[in-house]
Amino acid sequence: MTPGRAGPGEPGLIQKKLRLLMELRRAGIGDTRVLGAIEKTPREKFVPASFEDQAYENMALPIGNAQTVSQPYVVALMTEKLELGARQNVLEIGTGSGYQTAVLAALCRRVFTIERHRELLRDAARRFEELRLRNIVCRFGDGTKGWPEQAPYERVLVTAAAPEIPASLVDALAPGGILVVPVGEDHRDQQLMRIRRDGDRFLTEDLGLVRFVPLVAGLPRRQADQNLT
Ligand code: SAH
Repeated sequence: MTPGRAGPGEPGLIQKKLRLLMELRRAGIGDTRVLGAIEKTPREKFVPASFEDQAYENMALPIGNAQTVSQPYVVALMTEKLELGARQNVLEIGTGSGYQTAVLAALCRRVFTIERHRELLRDAARRFEELRLRNIVCRFGDGTKGWPEQAPYERVLVTAAAPEIPASLVDALAPGGILVVPVGEDHRDQQLMRIRRDGDRFLTEDLGLVRFVPLVAGLPRRQADQNLT
């Protein structure tokens, strides 16, 4: 073990993880499969080394490029609200650290994940490789356009706040599909929305207040200029 970098068996982290799982249960996360996925996903591997000892605090943490990994309660809530099945394909917009992606990957067939910051995606892909998560497919690009080649999707998750429900992602839903997306331009007033496709009808539910970094259309300037894809 490298000094200063906690190993997977580090007793403090295990205890903190158990405490977090109890907190999530108390906060209303009842799906044992979701709790199991949180339990088996090492959040300490998805945060910068200096935040490792806070990995199991129920809070968002910085991951670079002015982005954050969401608080575990919100990851658990969004995962639960997706009602994932083991044979389903999921489209995720906003890979970030890859933590939410890894939690999803534990519960479904395949996750297609898109991130607009190349460095974040590279680090996330390295983590998936290290953790041998083979059912994740990464793409660098603007997720507001979706990933049409793989559509339709049984489930779509957006982990950044959209100004409105993104029509391109609603269109990508398979029959019976579910989209979960935070909506709202003001960071103090974002609602987590669930859109369920029932034939030609779309049922919309409000799942409560959340706080996310914004979903930004296009690529960061430098990367777009270099036309990196
Ligand atoms: N779920 C992530 C955290 C998400 S933070 C985790 O578990 O770590 C939101 C992420 O969405 C950021 O990394 C941000 O760069 C990304 N993002 C914002 N707009 C995007 C877009 N249009 N396409 C793809 N990714 C986007």
